[in-house]
Amino acid sequence: MNFSFTKEQELIQRMAKEYAEKNIDPVAQQIDIENQIPAEIIEGLGELDLFGIPFSDEYGGAGSGYATYVLAMEQIAAASSGVGMIISAHTLGLGAIDAFGNEEQKKKYMPKSCKGEHIVSFAFTEPGTGSDPKQITSTARKEGDYYILNGTKRFITNAGYPGPIVFFAKEEESGRVTGFIVEKFCEGYSISEPWEKLGMHGGPLLDVYLKDVKVPAENILGAIGQGYPILQYAISYGKVGVSSAALGGALAAFNEAVKYAKEKTHRDQPIAKFQSTKLNIATIAEKYEAIRWLTYRLGYLADNVKDPVQFAKDAALTKDFVCEQIVDICKLAVSVHGSYGLMKDYKVERLWRDAIMGLQIEGVSDMQKMIVAGVILGM
Ligand SMILES: Cc1cc2nc3c(=O)[nH]c(=O)nc-3n(C[C@H](O)[C@H](O)[C@H](O)COP(=O)(O)OP(=O)(O)OC[C@H]3O[C@@H](n4cnc5c(N)ncnc54)[C@H](O)[C@@H]3O)c2cc1C
Repeated sequence: MNFSFTKEQELIQRMAKEYAEKNIDPVAQQIDIENQIPAEIIEGLGELDLFGIPFSDEYGGAGSGYATYVLAMEQIAAASSGVGMIISAHTLGLGAIDAFGNEEQKKKYMPKSCKGEHIVSFAFTEPGTGSDPKQITSTARKEGDYYILNGTKRFITNAGYPGPIVFFAKEEESGRVTGFIVEKFCEGYSISEPWEKLGMHGGPLLDVYLKDVKVPAENILGAIGQGYPILQYAISYGKVGVSSAALGGALAAFNEAVKYAKEKTHRDQPIAKFQSTKLNIATIAEKYEAIRWLTYRLGYLADNVKDPVQFAKDAALTKDFVCEQIVDICKLAVSVHGSYGLMKDYKVERLWRDAIMGLQIEGVSDMQKMIVAGVILGM
């Protein structure tokens, strides 16, 4: 067992922290209000290779693995969970191409995506189904060497950015769910206005409409009928991103609570002197340390998968626990602030709204518990 970081991990963590503090933190409030990430931030993150941390340098990535990705994501999301959401969903989609794409697909779609010139989407949720992807109704009809895709996808992160979208549809001949790589904004691709959601502002969530979109058969990801295993596998890796983004929110709430406890005074004494404040700070610290090491461990496991079923369980367990704990952490941080914590002038108000989002992303909490129990009990 080794709890220390490599030199490269320390370097990337520091780089992400410095970039986030200098470039994202000062505009985080503006991002929250406008629900839009400035283009320079996306460019800046791309220049630092933060869109391709876990992926091989052969395909334009940083080649640093998921353990390092977790460390960078924590720092970025501490400044803005909307930015964290973009990277997390992008890495999920790109991870699916990396794991299941053939050589031509990887060479075609990965380099620009790893540099942030393309932002990837991953589309399985539909108006009629989120928790049960087997009920997907989007279709893929074979026509010669092409497939004609039709369907509506709901709540798709990054759907308004150019780049590939991994689109799941039922292949009509086999009746089986299959993944396709589609280029966003091709003929027949359209999107809704962004959803106005509670938190994670700046992280764009749109509906996607495919109307007779023609893709070559070579754009099938993996094989016909492999869509469901791809979905399960990729989503497990996606939970590394969701957990790290939540961890970043917890770190920010922790820092805000400590800062406020020392600054705010009653009768010329900082409120940090009160036992009630100390108890809140200590509970936040306990929870933060627990989820920190659980998330770092998930990053390590993602780089060292021996049994995909066990990894799926660990990813579900971590995502669920971390996302539940961050809601508690933010609630405690708001408590330290009193009523000021409910005001938009204070960062914890935003952090609490952001925190609640994690519970529903990439599988609701109940579904995570079903995965965990299913693997443990073998049923
Ligand atoms: C910020 C954000 C980003 C997102 N990004 C993406 C994205 O990029 N791509 C994408 O495809 N989706 C994305 N989603 C969608 C998200 O993954 C789904 O909303 C989520 O999986 C839940 O699906 P649902 O909303 O349809 O809820 P439902 O599936 O309707 O679930 C509602 C409730 O019913 C229960 N339930 C439903 N089915 C079952 C069952 N079979 N067994 C037991 N209980 C069940 C659940 O416990 C849950 O509490 C995103 C969502 C958010 C909020």
